[in-house]
Amino acid sequence: MQTETGTDRYACRSPEEVRRLEAEYLFDTYRRYDLLVSHGSGAYVYGFDGRRYLDFLAGIAVNSLGYAHPRITRVIAEQSARLIHSSNLLYHPFQGQLARRLVELSGLSKAFFTNSGTEAIEGALKIARAWARRNGFTEKTTILSLKNSFHGRTLGALSITAQEKYQAPFRPLLPGVRFVDDLTPEGLERAFTPDVCAIVAEPIQGEGGVVPLPPDCLPTARELCDRRDALLVLDEIQCGMGRTGTWFAFQQLGVKPDVVTIAKAIASGYPLGAILGSARVADALQPGDHGTTFGGGPLACRIALEVLDVIEEEGLLEHVTRMGTYLISGLRKLAVSHPTIGDVRGKGLMVGAVLGTAARPAVEALLKGGVLANAAHETVLRLLPPFVISLRDIDEFLETLDHVLADIERSASGTVAGRA
Ligand SMILES: *Cc1c(COP(=O)(O)O)cnc(C)c1O
Repeated sequence: MQTETGTDRYACRSPEEVRRLEAEYLFDTYRRYDLLVSHGSGAYVYGFDGRRYLDFLAGIAVNSLGYAHPRITRVIAEQSARLIHSSNLLYHPFQGQLARRLVELSGLSKAFFTNSGTEAIEGALKIARAWARRNGFTEKTTILSLKNSFHGRTLGALSITAQEKYQAPFRPLLPGVRFVDDLTPEGLERAFTPDVCAIVAEPIQGEGGVVPLPPDCLPTARELCDRRDALLVLDEIQCGMGRTGTWFAFQQLGVKPDVVTIAKAIASGYPLGAILGSARVADALQPGDHGTTFGGGPLACRIALEVLDVIEEEGLLEHVTRMGTYLISGLRKLAVSHPTIGDVRGKGLMVGAVLGTAARPAVEALLKGGVLANAAHETVLRLLPPFVISLRDIDEFLETLDHVLADIERSASGTVAGRA
């Protein structure tokens, strides 16, 4: 018998074994979908049974270039053969170049690299507090966050996540956080007490159900931050890096933030995040104030540089805008014949369809029909396809959704008739 080596040694033996091992050895934190994934190519992922799935999830807004993009697999192979990690005690060639690109694309001034979105939020919170202190605003320690927001799972990020279900098991959380429920200009002004050092907002809320903020919300927040000496922190971890058709969602909203957090799509699947800061906060952090062992490593930064090049050279921002418009109009057409679909909202390839029923069964039925999607906030079907999706892919998705909704509507009316 041949000796098993390398990855073969851990090759998948059966879906049952995978499930059994996870059930026995993992903390029970995830409600996974019924798909054991093997590999991907372009906008498709493949199960171990060989079945093809059209991907409208992109690893939760991460796999911007889809799967196995030849330029990404090449830089991973080449750079990993040279240097994967070096620590932030040494220089490597890519962190500065990536910081320059992100600064140029965002119009901000400085970058700090992290390994995840949550870590970027943690750093942004520290910048807010440090900035206030350095500028002599010692009373300013309060962070404002908006209702229905999601900023991550660590204690700091969780503390500014205004959703009871995430916070409830973990109190007490960080003090000095206040949620804003009234997003009108008056409501924001009332919330902006003299102790506020920053307001954090997602330009389009993701986990909250693909909810764009009211149009005057961010301009009002910007104006209040200027007038009352506070920072506007935008969480673009989900909506940034091209997902809405511009590099950053704020670029379509007429505001310039002081701090932006990004992650998810930045390295198309490789873990990386960043905090970007304006000139106003450029010296908020001093040597020793903040750091990370892994953040901004050579492999991660090299991949992100390649991702930015591919998006630019393949014209993917324009493509995202075109595909997003097509997808949203297709969903609105479907809504005419499917009463289950209510509001259709979002921008670019960050799209939500509010269903008149729980979204999870629809997501599971889509999966059976060969499409990967996701449910957010109970009733929202959230669509986050990779940027490389085609018109034909969107047609295929809409056709599958058409059947799925017809089934759901048929069985719902059956239930009602059965009860009557
Ligand atoms: C995903 C997400 C986060 C958390 O990012 P992680 O990489 O999961 O830590 C924070 N904010 C927003 C808006 C997100 O979508």
